[in-house]
Amino acid sequence: MRPPATQRTLRRQNLGTVLQHVVRRGPRSRATIAQETGFNKSTVSSLVTELIEMGMLAERGAERTGTVGRPGLVVEVEGSGAAGVGLEVNVDYLAVRVVDLAGEVRHRAHEPVDLRGRDAGEMLDRLAAMAQAALGALREAGVRPAGITVALPGLVDAVTGTLLVAPNLHWEDLPVAAELGRRLGPDAPPIAADNDANLAALAELRTGAGEGLRDFVHVTGEVGIGAGVVLGGELLRGAHGYGGEFGHLTVEPTGRRCACGSVGCLETRAGLDALLSAAEESTEGADQQPVERLAARADAGDEKARAALAEGGRWLGIALASAANLLDPEAFVLGGYFAPLAEHLAPAAEAELRLRVLGAGRGLPALLTSPMGAEAAVCGAAGEVIERVMADPASVAGGPHYTS
Ligand SMILES: [Zn+2]
Repeated sequence: MRPPATQRTLRRQNLGTVLQHVVRRGPRSRATIAQETGFNKSTVSSLVTELIEMGMLAERGAERTGTVGRPGLVVEVEGSGAAGVGLEVNVDYLAVRVVDLAGEVRHRAHEPVDLRGRDAGEMLDRLAAMAQAALGALREAGVRPAGITVALPGLVDAVTGTLLVAPNLHWEDLPVAAELGRRLGPDAPPIAADNDANLAALAELRTGAGEGLRDFVHVTGEVGIGAGVVLGGELLRGAHGYGGEFGHLTVEPTGRRCACGSVGCLETRAGLDALLSAAEESTEGADQQPVERLAARADAGDEKARAALAEGGRWLGIALASAANLLDPEAFVLGGYFAPLAEHLAPAAEAELRLRVLGAGRGLPALLTSPMGAEAAVCGAAGEVIERVMADPASVAGGPHYTS
Protein backbone atom coordinates (compact mmCIF):
# COMPACT_ATOMS: atom_id res chain seq x y z
CA MET A 1 0.00 0.00 0.00
CA ARG A 2 1.24 3.48 -0.83
CA PRO A 3 1.90 5.74 2.14
CA PRO A 4 -0.44 8.72 2.42
CA ALA A 5 0.77 11.63 0.36
CA THR A 6 2.42 14.24 2.54
CA GLN A 7 1.87 17.88 1.77
CA ARG A 8 5.23 18.05 0.12
CA THR A 9 4.68 15.12 -2.23
CA LEU A 10 1.23 16.50 -3.01
CA ARG A 11 2.82 19.82 -3.90
CA ARG A 12 5.30 18.01 -6.14
CA GLN A 13 2.46 16.20 -7.89
CA ASN A 14 0.61 19.47 -8.38
CA LEU A 15 3.71 21.07 -9.92
CA GLY A 16 3.72 18.17 -12.39
CA THR A 17 0.03 18.57 -13.14
CA VAL A 18 0.43 22.26 -13.99
CA LEU A 19 3.58 21.69 -16.05
CA GLN A 20 1.94 18.85 -18.03
CA HIS A 21 -1.10 21.03 -18.61
CA VAL A 22 0.93 23.84 -20.17
CA VAL A 23 3.16 21.44 -22.17
CA ARG A 24 0.14 19.63 -23.64
CA ARG A 25 -2.34 22.49 -24.02
CA GLY A 26 -0.02 25.37 -24.93
CA PRO A 27 0.46 28.93 -23.61
CA ARG A 28 -2.34 30.20 -21.35
CA SER A 29 -2.99 32.53 -18.46
CA ARG A 30 -2.91 31.55 -14.79
CA ALA A 31 -6.66 32.10 -14.64
CA THR A 32 -7.26 29.74 -17.57
CA ILE A 33 -5.02 27.09 -15.96
CA ALA A 34 -6.99 27.41 -12.72
CA GLN A 35 -10.27 27.05 -14.56
CA GLU A 36 -9.11 24.00 -16.53
CA THR A 37 -7.29 22.12 -13.77
CA GLY A 38 -9.77 22.84 -10.99
CA PHE A 39 -7.06 24.27 -8.69
CA ASN A 40 -7.89 27.59 -7.09
CA LYS A 41 -6.26 30.71 -8.50
CA SER A 42 -3.83 31.32 -5.66
CA THR A 43 -2.60 27.70 -5.79
CA VAL A 44 -2.01 27.96 -9.53
CA SER A 45 -0.25 31.26 -9.09
CA SER A 46 2.13 29.84 -6.51
CA LEU A 47 2.78 26.65 -8.55
CA VAL A 48 3.44 28.69 -11.70
CA THR A 49 5.81 30.99 -9.81
CA GLU A 50 7.74 27.99 -8.57
CA LEU A 51 7.91 26.45 -12.07
CA ILE A 52 9.19 29.79 -13.40
CA GLU A 53 11.89 29.78 -10.69
CA MET A 54 12.81 26.24 -11.79
CA GLY A 55 13.21 27.55 -15.34
CA MET A 56 10.50 25.30 -16.76
CA LEU A 57 7.86 27.92 -17.45
CA ALA A 58 8.20 31.51 -18.58
CA GLU A 59 5.84 34.43 -18.55
CA ARG A 60 5.61 36.25 -21.83
CA GLY A 61 3.26 38.60 -23.59
CA ALA A 62 -0.26 39.24 -22.43
CA GLU A 63 -3.58 37.62 -23.05
CA ARG A 64 -6.51 40.01 -23.23
CA THR A 65 -9.52 38.09 -22.05
CA GLY A 66 -12.01 40.92 -22.41
CA THR A 67 -12.30 44.63 -22.72
CA VAL A 68 -12.45 45.23 -18.98
CA GLY A 69 -9.83 44.50 -16.38
CA ARG A 70 -6.09 44.22 -16.83
CA PRO A 71 -4.77 41.73 -19.37
CA GLY A 72 -3.47 38.45 -17.85
CA LEU A 73 0.09 37.42 -18.53
CA VAL A 74 0.50 34.24 -20.54
CA VAL A 75 2.52 31.34 -19.18
CA GLU A 76 4.41 29.15 -21.64
CA VAL A 77 6.86 26.28 -21.60
CA GLU A 78 10.54 27.16 -21.33
CA GLY A 79 12.15 24.52 -23.55
CA SER A 80 15.59 25.02 -22.03
CA GLY A 81 14.23 24.03 -18.61
CA ALA A 82 14.82 20.36 -19.32
CA ALA A 83 15.92 18.11 -22.15
CA GLY A 84 15.81 14.35 -22.54
CA VAL A 85 18.74 12.54 -24.12
CA GLY A 86 17.63 9.41 -26.00
CA LEU A 87 20.28 6.92 -27.07
CA GLU A 88 19.71 3.82 -29.15
CA VAL A 89 21.86 0.75 -29.57
CA ASN A 90 20.77 -1.33 -32.52
CA VAL A 91 22.41 -4.27 -34.23
CA ASP A 92 23.54 -2.07 -37.13
CA TYR A 93 23.61 1.49 -35.80
CA LEU A 94 23.92 3.80 -32.81
CA ALA A 95 21.73 6.88 -32.55
CA VAL A 96 21.13 9.86 -30.30
CA ARG A 97 18.22 12.31 -30.19
CA VAL A 98 17.80 15.15 -27.73
CA VAL A 99 14.36 16.70 -27.23
CA ASP A 100 13.58 19.59 -24.91
CA LEU A 101 10.53 20.25 -22.77
CA ALA A 102 8.89 22.23 -25.58
CA GLY A 103 9.34 19.29 -27.98
CA GLU A 104 12.15 20.89 -29.96
CA VAL A 105 14.92 18.59 -31.21
CA ARG A 106 18.17 20.04 -29.83
CA HIS A 107 20.66 17.51 -31.13
CA ARG A 108 20.72 14.34 -33.20
CA ALA A 109 23.29 11.92 -34.54
CA HIS A 110 23.28 8.54 -36.24
CA GLU A 111 26.27 6.22 -36.71
CA PRO A 112 25.93 3.12 -38.88
CA VAL A 113 27.98 0.33 -37.33
CA ASP A 114 27.63 -3.45 -37.53
CA LEU A 115 27.84 -4.52 -33.90
CA ARG A 116 27.58 -8.25 -34.57
CA GLY A 117 30.67 -9.99 -33.26
CA ARG A 118 31.88 -6.73 -31.72
CA ASP A 119 33.06 -6.22 -28.19
CA ALA A 120 30.47 -4.60 -25.90
CA GLY A 121 33.11 -2.33 -24.36
CA GLU A 122 33.87 -0.81 -27.75
CA MET A 123 30.16 -0.12 -28.28
CA LEU A 124 29.90 1.51 -24.83
CA ASP A 125 32.87 3.77 -25.63
CA ARG A 126 31.24 4.94 -28.86
CA LEU A 127 27.89 5.41 -27.15
CA ALA A 128 29.52 7.44 -24.37
CA ALA A 129 31.23 9.65 -26.96
CA MET A 130 27.85 10.30 -28.63
CA ALA A 131 26.29 11.10 -25.25
CA GLN A 132 29.17 13.49 -24.43
CA ALA A 133 28.62 15.33 -27.70
CA ALA A 134 24.91 15.65 -26.91
CA LEU A 135 25.56 16.90 -23.37
CA GLY A 136 28.15 19.34 -24.72
CA ALA A 137 25.62 20.74 -27.19
CA LEU A 138 23.11 21.21 -24.36
CA ARG A 139 25.68 22.91 -22.14
CA GLU A 140 26.55 25.31 -24.95
CA ALA A 141 22.87 26.11 -25.53
CA GLY A 142 22.19 26.59 -21.81
CA VAL A 143 19.71 23.72 -21.64
CA ARG A 144 19.44 21.54 -18.53
CA PRO A 145 19.90 17.79 -19.31
CA ALA A 146 17.28 15.98 -17.22
CA GLY A 147 18.31 12.42 -17.96
CA ILE A 148 19.48 9.81 -20.44
CA THR A 149 17.49 6.78 -21.55
CA VAL A 150 19.09 4.05 -23.65
CA ALA A 151 17.02 1.89 -26.00
CA LEU A 152 18.45 -1.63 -26.21
CA PRO A 153 17.73 -4.51 -28.62
CA GLY A 154 16.94 -7.32 -26.21
CA LEU A 155 15.58 -8.19 -22.78
CA VAL A 156 16.26 -5.34 -20.38
CA ASP A 157 16.02 -5.07 -16.62
CA ALA A 158 14.68 -1.51 -16.60
CA VAL A 159 15.19 -1.20 -12.81
CA THR A 160 18.97 -1.64 -13.01
CA GLY A 161 19.43 -0.58 -16.64
CA THR A 162 20.98 -3.95 -17.53
CA LEU A 163 20.82 -5.63 -20.92
CA LEU A 164 20.08 -9.24 -19.95
CA VAL A 165 20.10 -10.91 -23.37
CA ALA A 166 20.61 -9.53 -26.87
CA PRO A 167 20.20 -12.59 -29.11
CA ASN A 168 21.58 -10.97 -32.27
CA LEU A 169 24.62 -9.49 -30.51
CA HIS A 170 25.41 -12.37 -28.14
CA TRP A 171 25.80 -9.98 -25.22
CA GLU A 172 24.49 -11.03 -21.82
CA ASP A 173 24.14 -9.33 -18.43
CA LEU A 174 25.63 -6.07 -19.64
CA PRO A 175 25.06 -3.25 -17.08
CA VAL A 176 24.64 -0.58 -19.77
CA ALA A 177 23.38 2.25 -17.52
CA ALA A 178 26.16 1.71 -14.96
CA GLU A 179 28.90 1.34 -17.59
CA LEU A 180 27.73 4.45 -19.41
CA GLY A 181 27.60 6.32 -16.09
CA ARG A 182 31.19 5.30 -15.34
CA ARG A 183 32.31 6.64 -18.70
CA LEU A 184 30.35 9.91 -18.43
CA GLY A 185 31.47 10.69 -14.88
CA PRO A 186 29.70 12.00 -11.79
CA ASP A 187 28.24 15.10 -13.49
CA ALA A 188 26.13 13.04 -15.90
CA PRO A 189 22.35 13.19 -15.46
CA PRO A 190 20.51 10.01 -14.32
CA ILE A 191 20.78 7.14 -16.82
CA ALA A 192 18.08 4.54 -17.50
CA ALA A 193 17.67 1.79 -20.09
CA ASP A 194 14.69 0.00 -21.60
CA ASN A 195 13.77 -2.33 -24.43
CA ASP A 196 13.80 -0.58 -27.82
CA ALA A 197 10.42 -1.94 -28.95
CA ASN A 198 8.77 -0.76 -25.72
CA LEU A 199 10.18 2.75 -26.17
CA ALA A 200 9.13 2.77 -29.84
CA ALA A 201 5.55 1.86 -28.89
CA LEU A 202 5.49 4.62 -26.28
CA ALA A 203 6.66 7.13 -28.90
CA GLU A 204 3.89 5.98 -31.26
CA LEU A 205 1.36 6.26 -28.43
CA ARG A 206 2.40 9.86 -27.65
CA THR A 207 2.84 11.37 -31.09
CA GLY A 208 2.78 8.69 -33.78
CA ALA A 209 0.34 6.28 -35.39
CA GLY A 210 -0.91 5.14 -31.97
CA GLU A 211 -2.08 8.61 -30.92
CA GLY A 212 -5.72 8.35 -29.93
CA LEU A 213 -5.66 4.53 -29.87
CA ARG A 214 -6.12 2.56 -26.62
CA ASP A 215 -5.24 -0.95 -27.82
CA PHE A 216 -2.56 -1.54 -30.43
CA VAL A 217 0.60 -3.50 -31.10
CA HIS A 218 3.61 -1.70 -32.55
CA VAL A 219 5.74 -4.22 -34.44
CA THR A 220 9.29 -3.06 -35.10
CA GLY A 221 11.28 -4.67 -37.86
CA GLU A 222 15.03 -4.43 -37.35
CA VAL A 223 17.60 -7.20 -37.60
CA GLY A 224 15.46 -8.60 -34.80
CA ILE A 225 11.70 -8.13 -34.59
CA GLY A 226 10.23 -6.64 -31.43
CA ALA A 227 6.82 -5.44 -30.37
CA GLY A 228 5.36 -3.03 -27.89
CA VAL A 229 1.87 -3.99 -26.76
CA VAL A 230 -0.36 -1.13 -25.61
CA LEU A 231 -3.59 -2.18 -23.87
CA GLY A 232 -5.99 0.32 -22.36
CA GLY A 233 -3.51 3.10 -23.17
CA GLU A 234 -0.74 1.45 -21.10
CA LEU A 235 2.34 -0.46 -22.18
CA LEU A 236 2.09 -4.15 -21.29
CA ARG A 237 5.38 -5.25 -19.75
CA GLY A 238 4.58 -8.68 -18.31
CA ALA A 239 5.67 -10.21 -15.00
CA HIS A 240 9.40 -9.53 -15.51
CA GLY A 241 9.27 -6.74 -18.08
CA TYR A 242 10.12 -9.06 -20.97
CA GLY A 243 6.78 -8.95 -22.80
CA GLY A 244 6.50 -8.15 -26.49
CA GLU A 245 9.23 -10.45 -27.86
CA PHE A 246 7.18 -10.82 -31.02
CA GLY A 247 10.10 -11.95 -33.18
CA HIS A 248 10.39 -15.15 -31.15
CA LEU A 249 6.81 -16.28 -31.61
CA THR A 250 7.00 -19.72 -33.22
CA VAL A 251 5.50 -19.70 -36.71
CA GLU A 252 7.20 -22.84 -38.05
CA PRO A 253 7.90 -25.48 -35.37
CA THR A 254 10.26 -27.52 -37.57
CA GLY A 255 11.75 -24.50 -39.33
CA ARG A 256 15.04 -22.67 -39.23
CA ARG A 257 17.32 -22.18 -36.24
CA CYS A 258 16.94 -18.69 -34.68
CA ALA A 259 19.70 -16.54 -33.15
CA CYS A 260 17.90 -17.00 -29.80
CA GLY A 261 18.57 -20.75 -29.86
CA SER A 262 14.98 -21.78 -30.61
CA VAL A 263 13.61 -23.03 -33.93
CA GLY A 264 11.08 -21.50 -36.33
CA CYS A 265 10.78 -18.04 -34.76
CA LEU A 266 9.10 -15.30 -36.83
CA GLU A 267 12.48 -13.56 -37.05
CA THR A 268 13.90 -16.44 -39.14
CA ARG A 269 11.24 -15.69 -41.79
CA ALA A 270 10.48 -11.96 -41.57
CA GLY A 271 13.63 -10.57 -39.94
CA LEU A 272 15.77 -8.25 -42.06
CA ASP A 273 18.36 -10.91 -42.91
CA ALA A 274 15.66 -13.37 -44.00
CA LEU A 275 14.00 -10.79 -46.28
CA LEU A 276 17.26 -9.62 -47.86
CA SER A 277 18.46 -13.17 -48.43
CA ALA A 278 15.13 -14.31 -49.95
CA ALA A 279 15.26 -11.32 -52.31
CA GLU A 280 18.97 -11.95 -53.06
CA GLU A 281 19.60 -8.36 -52.00
CA SER A 282 23.08 -7.52 -50.76
CA THR A 283 23.52 -6.40 -47.16
CA GLU A 284 26.20 -3.92 -48.24
CA GLY A 285 25.89 -0.27 -47.33
CA ALA A 286 24.92 1.75 -44.30
CA ASP A 287 22.00 0.59 -42.15
CA GLN A 288 18.87 1.55 -44.11
CA GLN A 289 20.42 1.34 -47.57
CA PRO A 290 19.72 -2.38 -48.23
CA VAL A 291 16.07 -1.79 -47.22
CA GLU A 292 15.81 1.22 -49.52
CA ARG A 293 17.25 -0.80 -52.40
CA LEU A 294 14.83 -3.66 -51.72
CA ALA A 295 11.87 -1.26 -51.57
CA ALA A 296 12.97 0.41 -54.82
CA ARG A 297 13.26 -2.96 -56.57
CA ALA A 298 9.80 -4.02 -55.38
CA ASP A 299 8.35 -0.63 -56.45
CA ALA A 300 9.85 -1.15 -59.91
CA GLY A 301 8.15 -4.53 -60.23
CA ASP A 302 11.17 -6.79 -59.64
CA GLU A 303 9.63 -10.28 -59.30
CA LYS A 304 12.19 -11.70 -56.89
CA ALA A 305 11.90 -8.71 -54.54
CA ARG A 306 8.10 -8.78 -54.65
CA ALA A 307 7.96 -12.53 -54.02
CA ALA A 308 10.35 -12.25 -51.06
CA LEU A 309 8.29 -9.47 -49.50
CA ALA A 310 5.01 -11.29 -50.11
CA GLU A 311 6.48 -14.37 -48.41
CA GLY A 312 7.80 -12.28 -45.49
CA GLY A 313 4.38 -10.61 -45.24
CA ARG A 314 2.71 -14.02 -45.13
CA TRP A 315 4.84 -15.14 -42.15
CA LEU A 316 4.32 -11.79 -40.48
CA GLY A 317 0.55 -12.16 -40.98
CA ILE A 318 0.57 -15.61 -39.37
CA ALA A 319 2.14 -14.13 -36.24
CA LEU A 320 -0.12 -11.04 -36.31
CA ALA A 321 -3.18 -13.29 -36.53
CA SER A 322 -2.14 -15.06 -33.31
CA ALA A 323 -1.65 -11.71 -31.60
CA ALA A 324 -5.05 -10.51 -32.90
CA ASN A 325 -6.81 -13.60 -31.53
CA LEU A 326 -5.10 -13.18 -28.17
CA LEU A 327 -5.35 -9.39 -27.69
CA ASP A 328 -8.10 -8.01 -29.96
CA PRO A 329 -6.17 -4.80 -30.80
CA GLU A 330 -7.64 -1.91 -32.80
CA ALA A 331 -4.54 -1.81 -34.96
CA PHE A 332 -1.07 -3.10 -35.69
CA VAL A 333 1.46 -0.37 -36.39
CA LEU A 334 4.26 -1.52 -38.69
CA GLY A 335 7.48 0.24 -37.68
CA GLY A 336 11.23 0.00 -38.19
CA TYR A 337 12.09 -1.31 -41.67
CA PHE A 338 8.57 -2.71 -41.91
CA ALA A 339 7.43 0.91 -42.46
CA PRO A 340 9.16 1.53 -45.83
CA LEU A 341 8.25 -2.01 -46.94
CA ALA A 342 4.67 -1.96 -45.58
CA GLU A 343 3.03 -1.49 -48.97
CA HIS A 344 4.59 -4.75 -50.17
CA LEU A 345 4.23 -6.73 -46.92
CA ALA A 346 0.66 -5.74 -46.03
CA PRO A 347 -1.42 -7.53 -48.72
CA ALA A 348 -0.06 -11.00 -47.82
CA ALA A 349 -0.23 -10.21 -44.09
CA GLU A 350 -3.85 -9.08 -44.45
CA ALA A 351 -4.74 -12.28 -46.30
CA GLU A 352 -3.45 -14.31 -43.32
CA LEU A 353 -5.42 -12.13 -40.90
CA ARG A 354 -8.60 -12.71 -42.91
CA LEU A 355 -7.95 -16.45 -42.89
CA ARG A 356 -6.95 -16.88 -39.24
CA VAL A 357 -8.61 -14.25 -37.05
CA LEU A 358 -11.82 -15.43 -35.44
CA GLY A 359 -14.66 -13.12 -36.43
CA ALA A 360 -12.61 -11.64 -39.29
CA GLY A 361 -15.85 -11.05 -41.18
CA ARG A 362 -16.87 -8.55 -38.51
CA GLY A 363 -13.73 -6.50 -39.02
CA LEU A 364 -9.98 -6.86 -38.66
CA PRO A 365 -7.40 -4.80 -36.80
CA ALA A 366 -6.12 -2.02 -39.05
CA LEU A 367 -2.60 -2.35 -40.44
CA LEU A 368 -1.03 1.09 -40.03
CA THR A 369 2.39 2.32 -41.11
CA SER A 370 4.50 4.08 -38.52
CA PRO A 371 5.26 7.71 -39.44
CA MET A 372 8.47 7.46 -37.37
CA GLY A 373 9.86 4.26 -38.88
CA ALA A 374 13.26 3.40 -37.48
CA GLU A 375 13.39 6.61 -35.40
CA ALA A 376 10.61 5.62 -33.00
CA ALA A 377 12.83 3.94 -30.39
CA VAL A 378 15.28 6.83 -30.01
CA CYS A 379 12.38 9.35 -29.94
CA GLY A 380 10.70 7.19 -27.30
CA ALA A 381 13.90 7.12 -25.24
CA ALA A 382 14.17 10.92 -25.20
CA GLY A 383 10.42 11.14 -24.55
CA GLU A 384 10.69 8.92 -21.47
CA VAL A 385 12.97 11.47 -19.82
CA ILE A 386 10.53 14.29 -20.58
CA GLU A 387 7.64 12.20 -19.16
CA ARG A 388 9.59 11.80 -15.91
CA VAL A 389 10.26 15.54 -15.76
CA MET A 390 6.58 16.29 -16.26
CA ALA A 391 5.56 13.77 -13.59
CA ASP A 392 7.88 15.38 -11.02
CA PRO A 393 9.60 18.62 -12.11
CA ALA A 394 11.19 19.05 -8.67
CA SER A 395 13.18 15.82 -9.13
CA VAL A 396 15.13 17.56 -11.88
CA ALA A 397 15.17 21.15 -10.75
CA GLY A 398 16.03 20.38 -7.12
CA GLY A 399 15.98 23.62 -5.21
CA PRO A 400 15.75 24.32 -1.49
CA HIS A 401 12.21 22.96 -1.10
CA TYR A 402 12.94 19.45 -2.30
CA THR A 403 16.42 18.51 -1.24
CA SER A 404 15.50 15.60 1.05
ZN1 LIG B 1 14.05 -16.79 -31.74
